[in-house]
Amino acid sequence: MIEPGGTIGIMGGGQLGRMMAVAAGQMGYACIGYAPEGDNVSDGACADFVTADWHDEQALADFAARCDVVTWEFENVPVAPLGPIEAKLAPHPRALEIAQDRLFEKQFVEKLGGRPAQYAQVDQKADLSAAMARVGTPGILKTRRDGYDGKGQWRIDDRDAGDALEIEGSPLIYEGFVDFEVEFSVILARGALGEVVFWDSPANTHVDGILATSSLPAGDAIAAQMGEARALARQVADRLEYVGVLTLEFFATADGPVFNEMAPRVHNSGHWTIEGAATSQFENHIRAICGLPLGDTRTLTPRVTMTNIIGEAAHGAAQWLADPATHLHLYGKAEAREGRKMGHATRLGWE
Ligand code: AMP
Repeated sequence: MIEPGGTIGIMGGGQLGRMMAVAAGQMGYACIGYAPEGDNVSDGACADFVTADWHDEQALADFAARCDVVTWEFENVPVAPLGPIEAKLAPHPRALEIAQDRLFEKQFVEKLGGRPAQYAQVDQKADLSAAMARVGTPGILKTRRDGYDGKGQWRIDDRDAGDALEIEGSPLIYEGFVDFEVEFSVILARGALGEVVFWDSPANTHVDGILATSSLPAGDAIAAQMGEARALARQVADRLEYVGVLTLEFFATADGPVFNEMAPRVHNSGHWTIEGAATSQFENHIRAICGLPLGDTRTLTPRVTMTNIIGEAAHGAAQWLADPATHLHLYGKAEAREGRKMGHATRLGWE
């Protein structure tokens, strides 16, 4: 067990790291961030911050030596340089290896009985025609690695559109378009002894591939599919011997839950837990990686809605505070670029 007073390393400098460091600081831990040069907004919430390349093995070793445990908030931390500091890492980086590749992720989940959208590997142009023939159209072509928030994705409405597409060098995956009723996520924390707790699953809406809102209660369709989705998420966590917060995203369809993707980290669709749950995803992640007992995950109010504040919308963000039931979070990012997550607002509905 790492007692409060210990030091936690957080790889990645974004808002997830910032909220994690706030939760850790409240519990008496000091955090050291680590990320390459950039707008590292977690810096202000960390006791210290190391600016170095992901592949700088000396800097990584020095950083890890100062920490009792090292975790990440960024899913695309390169895995190869982590070998020498593996003993300090929680969760185990095998979770990153799988989640960083959409093909590996789908294959892994299928082996556990999960059901992703129909898909086909696309390494070159000829593969796309075959993929469209097999999976059908419409569909979405996605980069296997490094895509996020709808980036690295191309919607293909018909075979002509697919044939006209220029395909770059990176490995891709073609997915059939899922006819879903609503999207939801399963967010769990798995402790050092293998105990698992779940938060209520929110209904998630997306605009242009970016999460827009997460709301509770999630509605009947999701309530009916939660059991199956949770069982899969638990299996994923157990198989990975996962320690920390893990998120799986699903489409609720007429045929049950279809797996979309997993995130081996705290997740945007769990931000509502800061005010809306007895213990937030950030606190439970810290508890798990420090070997502490997990906190109560129950939802505190009958309704909770988290709305992301994206791009230019950040400029009028203070207006959210006109509603006393709403809590505003701004991440301190320097520039409100289009599609950039600048903050979020969580509204607790008491009736
Ligand atoms: P992703 O980055 O893969 O989670 O995709 C972002 C969002 O795009 C999802 O949350 C969905 O709203 C939409 N999307 C992605 N893949 C599919 C699919 N195969 N069928 C329908 N919608 C999708």
